[in-house]
Amino acid sequence: MSDWRLISIPFLEMDIAYACDLHCQGCSHYSNYGIKGTVPFAEGEVWLRDWAARLKPGTFSMLGGEPALNPDLFDYLRLAQELWPDSTRILISNGLNHHLRPGLFDLLAETKTRLDISFHSHQDKQYVERFNEALIAIEVARARLGFDMVLRTKEYRFHRIYQGEGAGMRPFEDQDPVASWKACQNSSCCTIHQGMLWKCPPLAYLGLIKDRFGLDRVEAWKPYLAYRPLAPTVPEEELVRFFLAGAESVCGMCPAKLEFHEQGLISKQRSGKD
Ligand code: SF4
Ligand code: SF4
Repeated sequence: MSDWRLISIPFLEMDIAYACDLHCQGCSHYSNYGIKGTVPFAEGEVWLRDWAARLKPGTFSMLGGEPALNPDLFDYLRLAQELWPDSTRILISNGLNHHLRPGLFDLLAETKTRLDISFHSHQDKQYVERFNEALIAIEVARARLGFDMVLRTKEYRFHRIYQGEGAGMRPFEDQDPVASWKACQNSSCCTIHQGMLWKCPPLAYLGLIKDRFGLDRVEAWKPYLAYRPLAPTVPEEELVRFFLAGAESVCGMCPAKLEFHEQGLISKQRSGKD
């Protein structure tokens, strides 16, 4: 792969965990449905090295699910620094699980990885208490170590990326993919999953819930489940086309106009282990 020219892109991300200890209604990675598992470093390293031979992101985000549930988290932080030392590297977390990874804050400072903490609900008191407690510990560590942190408080309102729930979930199909793409909040979130490059998380992770809910037997989902991501061996012209594509027919699965969930969080907080 060494003969390929590196293509600079603004943004790239990868879920290193599919599981999450929160169940936010409207999660665009479908982690609210109790998806299990993390991406073992032995697999994820190969994916990232392959794509680092093709892409140079201005920002590279590691997220999930909840990335702190991945026992290989530290390896990912070090690898991202090695592959893209000049990029802004971000760990996006719900902030509740740093106790599972002693030494995390030191490594964030050492690898110059920014920590983005997402806040998800004002309504759920149990969650808010737990969040505040975790945030204080993070701020204490930040004062000592000086790593960068962004507190994401604006994204707590989740919009619907499909109609219905669970086995009853259906694509919007508002017949206006351009409007859906223009309204989309995931349009710049191209993501690495199973070693391939996907347009966005809702397409990438649809496969993780299709068997559970029998979505492959639902006619309306078939065009979206048929989406084909790019392999890291893709010719350069095709890769460039991918980043210039903008609205595509698959965007028809998303709403042309955003509708927000009334309840941002369904509080089914588990132990923090997946
Ligand atoms: S914290 Fe909520 S939005 Fe984030 S991955 Fe977990 S379920 Fe999804
Ligand atoms: S399919 Fe298109 S509109 Fe829907 S989330 Fe992906 S990029 Fe956005």
